[in-house]
Order: sequence, then structure tokens, then C-alpha cells
Amino acid sequence: MEIVTCATCGTVAAELRATPPGATADLGPPLGLRRGPAPGVRVTGFGEPLWTVLGEAEYAAVRRGDYGAAVRRLPFFCAECAHSYCRAHWNVRRVSDTLRGTCPLGHPRAMPP
Ligand SMILES: [Zn+2]
Ligand SMILES: [Zn+2]
Repeated sequence: MEIVTCATCGTVAAELRATPPGATADLGPPLGLRRGPAPGVRVTGFGEPLWTVLGEAEYAAVRRGDYGAAVRRLPFFCAECAHSYCRAHWNVRRVSDTLRGTCPLGHPRAMPP
């Protein structure tokens, strides 16, 4: 497991757990328990639980305890800042059907529910 902290306030921004191929992951309502078809990482603590599929190399890195590549593709991470932020420090607003966030320095990115 990897705990990612917020670059602004130091609280936990998200918790990541590697999920091997075929592992079940509780995605929360309405999806519930699902069996992942591919290796990935489960993310909790940043809005609703997420499950992200990883490529072979990324998953191998995660298995070695290196979550860097996985973190960079997840929504709590701002590529421009190269930092992660907790949900409270992303300014999230709804634009039509999607959630848009801006990091504390104003960089935009799509947000999950
Ligand atoms: Zn924060
Ligand atoms: Zn930023």
C-alpha cells in the first residue's frame, strides 16, 4: 500500500493498493465488488473509490513498491506542479456533466466523482 499526502496541508490525499489481475475490488456503490480483468491500482480517500488499470511496466513497478508512475496518472496529481493534493485542496466544480478541478496553483484537470 502507498499513502500519498497533500503537498499543501500534509494530510492523506489518497491510499493506493495494487490489485493483481483477477483480484476483486470494492468500488463502492453502485458498482460494488468487481473482479478486475487487468492489473491495476485501487485508490481510496480521494472522492469516491477508484480503480485504475495499469500497464505491465507500471504494475511491475508498483509491485516493487514504486508507485511513482501510477501516481502520475491519477487525479490527485498535478502534472504541472509535480505534486499531489488532497480533495479539499482541489477546487472542484461541475461543468455540464463532468467535474473539473484546479490545483492550488490554478492548473486544471478532470476530476472523478
Ligand atoms: Zn490538502
Ligand atoms: Zn498544479
